[in-house]
Order: sequence, then C-alpha cells, then structure tokens
Amino acid sequence: MEDVLIIGAGIFGLSVARKLRLAGRDVMVAEAAGVGAGASATPLGVLAPHAPDHWNAKKEAQFRALTSLPDYLAALEDETGQGVGYVRCGRLVPLTTENQRRAWERRLPDAVENWRGAASLELVERVDADWIAPDATPFGAVCCGLSARIDARRYLAAMAASVGDRLVTGMTLERLEDGVAVFTNGERIAAKLIVLATGAAAFAHLPEVEGEPAGRGEKGQAARLSVAIDVTDRPIIYHDGAYVVPREGGEVAVGATSERYYEDAAMTDMLLDEKITRARALCPALQGAQVVERWAAARPRAADRGLLVGPHPTLQGVAVATGGFKTGLAMAHMLDVEAFV
Ligand SMILES: Cc1cc2nc3c(=O)[nH]c(=O)nc-3n(C[C@H](O)[C@H](O)[C@H](O)COP(=O)(O)OP(=O)(O)OC[C@H]3O[C@@H](n4cnc5c(N)ncnc54)[C@H](O)[C@@H]3O)c2cc1C
Repeated sequence: MEDVLIIGAGIFGLSVARKLRLAGRDVMVAEAAGVGAGASATPLGVLAPHAPDHWNAKKEAQFRALTSLPDYLAALEDETGQGVGYVRCGRLVPLTTENQRRAWERRLPDAVENWRGAASLELVERVDADWIAPDATPFGAVCCGLSARIDARRYLAAMAASVGDRLVTGMTLERLEDGVAVFTNGERIAAKLIVLATGAAAFAHLPEVEGEPAGRGEKGQAARLSVAIDVTDRPIIYHDGAYVVPREGGEVAVGATSERYYEDAAMTDMLLDEKITRARALCPALQGAQVVERWAAARPRAADRGLLVGPHPTLQGVAVATGGFKTGLAMAHMLDVEAFV
C-alpha cells in the first residue's frame, strides 16, 4: 500500500506532493499525460492582487500568497537549480473614462492601508508609447506594484524536479473505490491517503453538493507572440478582460477567454483571434508580431470560485486539491497540507 497517492501533476498536485515530501511522507504522483498537461501550463503566468478596497478574508489570503511567493520560489530554485522566471513587473490598467480614474483615486489610500508597504498603487499620466497605445489611456493608467509574472512551465518543471522520480505518467484515473484508485490501464493502487488533483477533471469524481456539481471546467484560450522590442522590464497590461504579459526571450503572452460552454477544451478558435486583435490595438509592439503558440485548457472552477482543498467530507481517505480558477499559480504554495493528513 502507498502512503500518499496524488493524482494529477498540475500546480496543485505538485505543490501538495512537494509539501508532503518535505514533511517526510512517502509520496507517489500519478499523471495521465505529462507535467503541465492541464491549465497550469498557461502562457500568461499573471500573479495579480484583487483591488485593495472592500478588504476581506479572500483578499487577505491572496495578499499573503503574493507576498510569500518570492521566498517560496527562491527556495525552490535553490533546491532544484532551476529558474522559474518570477519577475515583480507590475501591472498597468489603462483608464478610459473620468469615472474609472476617480474610482481608482479612491482606492489609493486602501492600498496604503491593506498592502502595508509591500507595494504601491499609483496613477501614472504617461506610459511608453511603444508599449501602450496613447489613445488607449485618455485618462492615464493605474500601476499596481504588487503584480508579478512567472513562467508557469518552468515553475512546473522545477516542482516536478523537486518531487523526483516518484512521478509516473501515463496513469489515467478511472474511478475511486474505498481507499483505492483504479486506473484505465487496469492498475489498482491502494493508499493511506489519495489526493485528487486532476484540475477541471476532478469534479467528475466528486459527489454533487446539494444537487449541484462541486464545480466545473471553464475553458480559456491564450497565445504567445514573438516581438521585436525588448520587453523584459515592461509591466503587464490588463484592460477589460484582456491581458498582455511580457515574457522572457522576446515574447509576449495574450489572453484569455472565459468560456462556460465548450466541446473541446484544448481547441483554439476565433475567440482567441478576437483577443489577439484587441491586444494588438492596445499594445503597438504586437502590431505585426508573429503568433508562435495558440493554447487552450479548462480551468477548474469550484462552485464558490474559491479553492477546493482539504479532506473530502464523504469520500473516506480522499483529499481534494484543485480549484484556483484564474489564480491557481499564485495560491497553490499556500495549501495547508497538515489538514490533509
Ligand atoms: C487560459 C488560462 C489562463 C490562465 N492564466 C492564469 C494566470 O495567469 N495566473 C494564474 O494564477 N492562473 C491562471 N490560470 C488558472 C490556473 O491555470 C489554474 O488555477 C491552475 O492551473 C489549476 O491547477 P490544477 O493543478 O488544479 O489543474 P491542472 O493544471 O489542470 O492539472 C491537472 C492535472 O491532472 C491531470 N489529469 C486530469 N485528469 C486526470 C486523470 N483522470 N488521471 C490522471 N491525471 C489526470 C491533467 O493531465 C493535469 O496535468 C489560467 C488558466 C487558463 C485556462
């Protein structure tokens, strides 16, 4: 019998695996396709806070996650010798109306109070004309100094290196039976603790809650473009649902769609083209830039949009670690695995 069997090698499965392994548990990770086969391999890698006003427990938890992540990542990089491309690059939100500007002006003191000196929130009048089109910022922009980016795929690779050789691919969970995971290849693995970390696919294995699914997948599409200017020190741009994210190696990521109804989570289509067109209008550096990757996946969205984490109330010996919706990369290192065992 295994000690801990974690199913799914996305950021949630790997984060649980690393924590439990460092706590001395014997951990096996079983993954259907490969590390980063799911939503965690997003080209975007945005790590951004909620607005600092109307502070609540959810915003506090995310603030703690964002401010503790650099130390966590530095320890991971030291341990594995692999970089993860974390950069506190900031995020610019163009302001297109007087009302928007006033609303952000009112939030400035909230940032001072709630972010406690960890970062600033500022209004800026002028932005680099090759990075944000001047006509996109008629009322200036707001710059969030707490926002950062990460190379999600390098993060996953470092996490996998930390977990080590007990990560097995080609293992697709078919069903859970009392303390036993049954895989489509007929293999049955018993474990003292099974952690279901299969992202959007997890909900199919979980009982309904008050007649409703515990969550659902929500598809997102994103792209990588190759640009001619050096973007390493540029901030993320976010405008009206569209992200423009600088990356290493002369690339920019663009996205993402949010699709509740879809047939194929991995297929890209004209909805992504629309995002790319909007991004090009926002960011002059993207005019004529070549698209080098089109990517799509289903985000795990728990019924309450939060994380679905902890021992399952009715499935004996099973814990769940998924959810995160649009913020999984920022939150996964905060999982309290003590509660699992
Ligand atoms: C377009 C898009 C953009 C995003 N951008 C960001 C962002 O900028 N910042 C951010 O923080 N978050 C972002 N997210 C959300 C983030 O990716 C998720 O919150 C997070 O990745 C969820 O991680 P997970 O480990 O739960 O799921 P996943 O990463 O999906 O991992 C699940 C793993 O389980 C495996 N699996 C599935 N079924 C089985 C099975 N039956 N048996 C065995 N293994 C199985 C899959 O192959 C996969 O490897 C984005 C998501 C999308 C779709």
